[in-house]
Amino acid sequence: MIKLPNTIAPASHILAKLQEYQDEIDRLTTFTERSEKAKAVFGSRNKIGNTVFDAIKVKLSDMCSGARRCVYCEDSVGDEVEHIRPKDLYPGVCFSWTNYVYACGNCNGPKNNKFAVFRHSDGQFVEVNPPRGQQAAEPPAGDDALINPRIEDPFAYCMLDLISTFQFVITAPAGTPEHQKAEYTINTVLRLNEREFLRKSRRSAFENYKARLYQYVHKRNAGASAGKLQLMREGIQTEAHPTVWKEMQRYHRRGILRNVDPDLDDLFLAEPNALNW
Ligand SMILES: [Zn+2]
Repeated sequence: MIKLPNTIAPASHILAKLQEYQDEIDRLTTFTERSEKAKAVFGSRNKIGNTVFDAIKVKLSDMCSGARRCVYCEDSVGDEVEHIRPKDLYPGVCFSWTNYVYACGNCNGPKNNKFAVFRHSDGQFVEVNPPRGQQAAEPPAGDDALINPRIEDPFAYCMLDLISTFQFVITAPAGTPEHQKAEYTINTVLRLNEREFLRKSRRSAFENYKARLYQYVHKRNAGASAGKLQLMREGIQTEAHPTVWKEMQRYHRRGILRNVDPDLDDLFLAEPNALNW
């Protein structure tokens, strides 16, 4: 999971239409009414052929890596409009563009309406989703305890172990709210470490990126055209598992890549521009 580009947005008339949908919810009196309405109307609007959501999905696709990979696991196809803040707990952002990402069923299903906050009244970490089958209650005011890739850089909380496990390692100090937030996001809600196939897939992405960079440097040295090199750069930038690529760059910048993979370190030395791709 990487921080997503914040330059992508639907046209203003699409955003205006979303606001109209939102107004239908906001005008209701009680939290329960708003929560029920959010669930009901989102399902009826988020359908193929609804021009607003058709346009939104195009923009959400632009945020995904590879062939529309899920923004959370970066592996399976992102085909579900996911609310970062669950709509039944936060009906006030049911139709909010900044609350959407494209996620896969493997991530979105188990995530469901799991959410937690650091309660403003006492700073405590509180899970606010209702027990299964029960009606959602209005969450207490608090700061989100789930990393939001629309506005935050997950690397501020963790790193990816490129040496052996290809799991996320939480770097925020133990005992801090940041550590708890990372633990909740990565391990409890999204299970980014637990799923074995994701670790395998990240390992294979590491080899793919390295091979692509090797090929780039090789072709560049052999005098390939600017157009050909551009295509090769774009190939790297649109590959799945961008977290792996970004972490390869970070390992190099920190001077630790040489211990992991000296050949790869040499490739970044040979093409320093790749550190910004
Ligand atoms: Zn996913």
